[in-house]
Amino acid sequence: MSDLNQIIVGYDLWYLKLPVVSARDHGIGRVSGSCEVIVLRLRTEGGIEGFGEASPWSVFTGSPEASFAALDRYIRPFVINRKVSERTAIMADANRAVAHCTEAKAALEAALLDLEGRVSCQPVYALLGGKHCDTIPLSVSLADPDWSSDRALLMRLREDGVRLVKLKTGFAGHGFDLMRLEELARDFPDLAVRVDYNQGLAPEDALAQVREVTTFRPDFIEQPVAAPLYDLMAEIRAAIDVPLLADESVFGPEDMIRASREEICDGVSIKIMKSGGLLRAQETAAIAAANGLTAYGGDMFEAGLAHLAGAHMVAATPAISLGCEFYQARYFLRDDILEEPFPCTGGVVRLPDAPGLGIRPDVGKLDHYSQERTKVA
Ligand SMILES: [Mg+2]
Repeated sequence: MSDLNQIIVGYDLWYLKLPVVSARDHGIGRVSGSCEVIVLRLRTEGGIEGFGEASPWSVFTGSPEASFAALDRYIRPFVINRKVSERTAIMADANRAVAHCTEAKAALEAALLDLEGRVSCQPVYALLGGKHCDTIPLSVSLADPDWSSDRALLMRLREDGVRLVKLKTGFAGHGFDLMRLEELARDFPDLAVRVDYNQGLAPEDALAQVREVTTFRPDFIEQPVAAPLYDLMAEIRAAIDVPLLADESVFGPEDMIRASREEICDGVSIKIMKSGGLLRAQETAAIAAANGLTAYGGDMFEAGLAHLAGAHMVAATPAISLGCEFYQARYFLRDDILEEPFPCTGGVVRLPDAPGLGIRPDVGKLDHYSQERTKVA
């Protein structure tokens, strides 16, 4: 059976703990040892499967336990025994069933789109309006507390053709940030550098420190202060001559409207894990563009399955013009979960054209890294 009237009868979840190669520091916290993601598998009565991933970070969007519970307890009843064609209605029910839990809703929508794409033999980008590009420039973040390790990574990135890097700042003092910016300018002048504080600056220090960083002429400076401090973001934006981007201050369309009105930023990080799905991410980007703001495709600590969903969304969203950050599957995880490597070579992400998300997870790996599993049908 290949029609969209097929009934969804299978709903499996894996709670994964994926080992990582190093610690990563950010203004709001550290990730080390492993990152935790949830994988959802939907299956139709005809045996066709769709996969989605929730990739929360407890200090940023929410906890993996909350994502798992949202999908397992609150969202599951609105998916089982529904038709593949009911994606929009299922998402509306999921949004009513549980507040927040945006990563769980992103996983659900990705799985529904993957399923619909596989049933109708179309890639997910086609279901989102069609792609405007075949490749997306890749930015890799430098966040290792050991700068010598990041310098080794920089050599590897250069060999791999990566030309965009983002320096994570605000976690070990202003002097450490300036030293790294100086070395990047001196030893890696071929790289375009972005700077991201992840809310790391104290309000009283923020403007002076950000102003000094502007002398290095980064492409942009992101989220120097805490997410709710819209007035201070607006003040910093007005005072500097480098674009200021919002990340933690803007989750979805509602925040984007307010951020535009209050002129807190020149651009925004669009993430399906923040917006609660691919369509709401597109909506957020459209509002940014309508207000003259730029955008890039960001991510959380994700595996390749979430990267794929993000890449299809970015490729179908012309308003996102500053590339993407889908680097963790290749440069951060010890072992990704996809059946074949996430497609990023030569400094770009390459969109798969196969139906659905284009690449499936390796179920053996899901079982191997699983801490918990539930299954229906
Ligand atoms: Mg950020």
